[in-house]
Amino acid sequence: MSSNYIDFHCHLDLYPDFASAVQDAERAAVYTLTVTTTPKAWPRNREVTARTRYVRAALGLHPQLAQERSDEISLWDQYLPETRYIGEVGIDASPRYYRSLDLQREIFRHVLEESALQGNKILSVHSVRSGKVVLDLIERYLPSSRGRVILHWFSGSVSEAQRAIDLGCYFSINSSMLSNDRGNRLFTILPVERVLTETDGPFTRVNNQTTCPADVRHTVEMIAACRHSAVEEIKTCIARNLRTLLEPCVH
Ligand code: MN
Repeated sequence: MSSNYIDFHCHLDLYPDFASAVQDAERAAVYTLTVTTTPKAWPRNREVTARTRYVRAALGLHPQLAQERSDEISLWDQYLPETRYIGEVGIDASPRYYRSLDLQREIFRHVLEESALQGNKILSVHSVRSGKVVLDLIERYLPSSRGRVILHWFSGSVSEAQRAIDLGCYFSINSSMLSNDRGNRLFTILPVERVLTETDGPFTRVNNQTTCPADVRHTVEMIAACRHSAVEEIKTCIARNLRTLLEPCVH
């Protein structure tokens, strides 16, 4: 039997028609984690994914919005018991967001502590130019017995990736990452059992079109080429990785 594709990080609520983007992912039978950028978006996400088979919504506060949205952290707290999935969260230390770095760090630390307290959460984490600080915080505030982390579109160094592997992190990989030498080099050191796929749609393009979850097959094809494996074999492996990821965390 053929496995399903997995898009473990996309933003379906940022497509022109959220509900139909969800229905498209359902019809394509792609296991999809749709992340959110503000806690205010949660009620609508909860509603749209209430009866879906393949699509799950994650509760997030995007680090790029920390400055404007930090007051929504109490809403994030309020909604936290309603979902196992957290994201998009993390830290962005690129020049444009540098000035909110202290605030971002404070929010991410809070997210990790609260997730650890409730336990069994799964977090999709942004770590642009902040691999070290993100891993420092994860190591300190979210032990692997209390929650699991997927580093989304990871662009840190090889030594940071190694450290993330040692901490038990997963990596969600998209086709943009595999389209340059640096990303490819990094990818080769990742253990195959820690690899998931993502589109980060609508922020990526394939064949000059905005990606949708079903486009994750391009990434699977690229991974198969990179690993000299059959596409079906990689698909099966990623589906197995997702099952392992979803197992309850051990206390
Ligand atoms: Mn994203």
